[in-house]
Amino acid sequence: MSVNNAYEIAQQEFDHVADMLDLDEEARTFLRDPKKEYHVRIPVRMDDGSLKIFDGYRVQHNDALGPNKGGLRFAANETLDTVRMLAMKMTWKCSVANIPLGGGKGGVVVDPRDLSVGERERLVRAYVRALFPAFGPRNDVPAPDMGTNAQDMCWFMDEYSMLGGRYIPGVVTGKPVGGGGSLGRNEATGLGVIICVREAMKQLGIDSTKTTAAIQGFGNVAQYAAIHFIKMLGGKVKCVSCWNRDEKKSFTFLKEDGIDPYFLMSITDAYGTVSNEKAAEAGYQVLDGGEWIKQDVDVLIPAALEKQITGENVGFISKNVKILAEAANGPTTLEADAALRERGMFVIPDFLCNAGGVTCSYFEEVQNDQNYYWSVEEVLQKLDYKMSTAFNSVYEMSVEKKAYMRDAAYMVSIKRVADAMRFRGWIK
Ligand code: NAD
Repeated sequence: MSVNNAYEIAQQEFDHVADMLDLDEEARTFLRDPKKEYHVRIPVRMDDGSLKIFDGYRVQHNDALGPNKGGLRFAANETLDTVRMLAMKMTWKCSVANIPLGGGKGGVVVDPRDLSVGERERLVRAYVRALFPAFGPRNDVPAPDMGTNAQDMCWFMDEYSMLGGRYIPGVVTGKPVGGGGSLGRNEATGLGVIICVREAMKQLGIDSTKTTAAIQGFGNVAQYAAIHFIKMLGGKVKCVSCWNRDEKKSFTFLKEDGIDPYFLMSITDAYGTVSNEKAAEAGYQVLDGGEWIKQDVDVLIPAALEKQITGENVGFISKNVKILAEAANGPTTLEADAALRERGMFVIPDFLCNAGGVTCSYFEEVQNDQNYYWSVEEVLQKLDYKMSTAFNSVYEMSVEKKAYMRDAAYMVSIKRVADAMRFRGWIK
């Protein structure tokens, strides 16, 4: 069996925690593979009059806790195994966040940059028609993900509502505010990361006002993580980094006495590139993209993309780093994770750390369901409660079982799903 396949790696991680939990055979067999999988071939009339058939997937890993939840991706290299792996991870993410949803994921094999707006709309609508019975607020609720956006969700919701014969906004989340979306969604993931860091500092006895952080990335998650590290914790963010489109490499923007995220946002272009010249003029050191990980800070926050902390650079992490908050999905390779585990690093694992986004999506569904919308203060207050409770249940498990935080998070989430399956009579 190849261990390079992301789905097989996810299954191995599951086996490892199932052993630690002493999970029975019935629960293991159920959870190791998805409950339902769909593969559809989607015909779309292209602008030049030709007919193109796209492969589309939807995987529903497990819905013991509630309707499946997970993004819809448009990616040229999409495979069924990638979708399976991501659907399984959604089950664990919803469960660890303690929201009553299961895990799902969808994908279409397409490079969205190859589509005109009209072709894109026809593809989204055709995907919905091909899989109509699979979706619904009580079945499976997609969201924007890699290669898809809020407009795609609006087309999705419209097509689904037309086929259903009534307005059904809760079939997807990530809709714009005013189109059924929730206030607070933009900042939910970054804020959720910092709520986890705040709770970790409380448990570890760290005075947050004296702390510093280094952040990789300066997109949606990283920007709000930086803002709230400063605003909520009273700490300093020493650096952030970003991908520079023109130079085709990444840069780190560092200021010893703390960066100003609003200033850096004001010199970031529409494609997410921070201006090196304007940053330097304002007194920032503009360093190589890899420098963020070498900083002598209390908290490291990878918030850009996957596989950024590797066997090669894990040794650069300062001995003074006390918390690694995995804001991005899968930022740490297995090799780097083994080194961090060995060294006793306090890791807030990705599916707990960035669960603020899916938690706010759940709030969107709840608001759609009741057709009554909350103020931003109400959304963020509820988010704070859910994220701090989620963090603390994992922390308590890690103390009780003397487990690494990543293992403890898996243990909490797998146990909740297995218990729900038992309550429902799916397993003994
Ligand atoms: P984004 O596209 O808004 O930002 C990504 C950032 O990473 C950009 O600033 C980009 O310049 C930077 N970047 C890209 N390559 C880089 C490199 N080599 N070095 C340094 N910086 C680099 O994305 P986002 O929404 O902020 O998501 C970031 C991560 O968080 C992803 O892993 C995503 O899957 C995960 N995540 C996001 C959400 C959410 O609600 N947005 C929710 C859960 C998980």
